[in-house]
Amino acid sequence: MKIPVFLSRSPVRALLVFAAISPLAAQTPAPLPKAVVEKPIPGKLKNGERPWQELPEAEVEKIRAALPDKAQATPAKPRKLLVFYRTDGFPHASIPHWNKCIELLGQKTGAYTVTLTQNYDDLLPDKLKEYDALFFNNTCRMKTPEPVKAAVQDFVKSGKGWVGNHGAGDSWHDWPEGKEMLGCKFVCHPFGAIQIKVDDPESPLTAVFGGKSFPHRDEIYAFTDPYSREKLRVLLSIDYPNSPEVAKSEETLRKRAAAPEAKDRDREFLAAVRADKDYALAWIRPWEKGRVFYCALGHSAEVTFDPAMVKFYLAGIQYAIGDLKAADGAVATGPDRPGAD
Ligand SMILES: [Zn+2]
Repeated sequence: MKIPVFLSRSPVRALLVFAAISPLAAQTPAPLPKAVVEKPIPGKLKNGERPWQELPEAEVEKIRAALPDKAQATPAKPRKLLVFYRTDGFPHASIPHWNKCIELLGQKTGAYTVTLTQNYDDLLPDKLKEYDALFFNNTCRMKTPEPVKAAVQDFVKSGKGWVGNHGAGDSWHDWPEGKEMLGCKFVCHPFGAIQIKVDDPESPLTAVFGGKSFPHRDEIYAFTDPYSREKLRVLLSIDYPNSPEVAKSEETLRKRAAAPEAKDRDREFLAAVRADKDYALAWIRPWEKGRVFYCALGHSAEVTFDPAMVKFYLAGIQYAIGDLKAADGAVATGPDRPGAD
């Protein structure tokens, strides 16, 4: 097996790298249990909302089975979380699963109570003031009204929290300040089976993973600017040397963009191929007096059946709410950053 020159600076390191990328050492993501997803996905009503049906009880049971018994931090006071599950773009079939998961998670652990809404009016200052944090559930390509943009910014900057899962990373393409708060711009989702590296093993948010790299299978997003480790505290990222499918997908993107029949979209998707191989998947950041937690994992409903992932989300929510303290200063790339190898 050919070892890249930059990784083979010393024989010991080369051996370690070889062991890490050998097929024997790599873990294969186990197939996930299949969720019953709602098909067809309900169309938009005139007001842009979607009449999602209640989840079948069998699905709710799978979510219940994944919930932790208690919260990581004791709430300083009763907390209120507003879950916003409107999507103006792609409607993820997992939206009802996430609504139920976040609601039951708060109910069971006592970390917070939930209000669910698809209505932009509920994000205006008069309504927002009663909440401690917002959870944007798979909100893709949002056409956010200007007063809502200002209200969300004021809310978070004043000391409140913002949490986003998966599609929320694709929320804002025409709102620079929103993208900056979120910490990235979504390009496309070129990857599937990956190994995930814990970048900040000392963080209480990643405690559930025990500092170990682990396999995962989902639709995996790739991001570009304003993503930067100069601004964000990255918690999880793709363990690139142990994720051989990622290099294959990069090659596919390059070939498609270079082909004579390439379309604009193929050339745009080339931005997903990162020269630095730094494919971050979850991070936190302060946003003036407030806090932001984003995790790109969660396309599939199956993520809500995964006890480790659900616990990770709860820690992220508790960080954003302000109950779970964590070092959240940016740690730039380099050999000294947490999790660097
Ligand atoms: Zn997705």
